[in-house]
Amino acid sequence: MTFLTYTMFLCLVCMAFSCQESMDLELDLLPRPLIIEYPETRLKNMTEELTMQCTSWRVAVESNNLNPWKTIPMECADYIEEYMSGQAYNFDLETVSKEARVYAKSLELGDDGMDVWIFDIDETLLSNLPYYSDHGFGLEVFDCVQFDRWVVEGEATVIESSLKLYEEVSWLGFQIILLTGRSEDKRNVTVTNLINAGYQNWDKLILRGDDDQGKSAIEFKSEKRKEIIEEGYRIIGNSGDQWSDLMGTSVASRSFKLSNPMYHIP
Ligand SMILES: [Mg+2]
Repeated sequence: MTFLTYTMFLCLVCMAFSCQESMDLELDLLPRPLIIEYPETRLKNMTEELTMQCTSWRVAVESNNLNPWKTIPMECADYIEEYMSGQAYNFDLETVSKEARVYAKSLELGDDGMDVWIFDIDETLLSNLPYYSDHGFGLEVFDCVQFDRWVVEGEATVIESSLKLYEEVSWLGFQIILLTGRSEDKRNVTVTNLINAGYQNWDKLILRGDDDQGKSAIEFKSEKRKEIIEEGYRIIGNSGDQWSDLMGTSVASRSFKLSNPMYHIP
């Protein structure tokens, strides 16, 4: 009996040492830098206080607490460029997309096929970053003539996190309605651009017609949502990068605001 107890004790000691050894081995395999080197960014010339001020400005934009604004603050030009070109913008978009997907999946849709998800297009499904990178990321006053020239090239790029949401809601059985401030004469180029970017099988694409010119985005989009509801649809979700995509009347059961600190559309 004593011999058996002694043997078991020895085994336990051996196991403990071998476990410790394997942990040490694993820890040795992991990189453990003593000094963490952060990548150099263009923000290195910004003071910490200015970086915080620009972050504060961006948060005020996203939470719709600013008055209508035309350009980003001059002193935040580097900050916005870094935000839009770096990982932060994509992380923010991915977070919104993920939350929207969780919401969409949590719902039980009607069996009449009348549940709708609305998507805005610019800076929601398609990115115009190549254009804005040539125009100061919002530092220049918006020039509709130059922007229209860019739009007709049909080179806007896909926003991957939005494509993921788009495909998810489509698979779940939502009707997809695209509601954009682009004008009707941009229909063909917009359709081609969307398809090239990977979007397909939407149910309606609503653009600004002649009667809609001169209306604010919030007015135009509210009217169109009202018409959609009058057709018997239920607007369950709405994704847009502007508060004017989401607010007003006939709003969705839940709206998702994508980040965009480059411009403001009332
Ligand atoms: Mg937009």
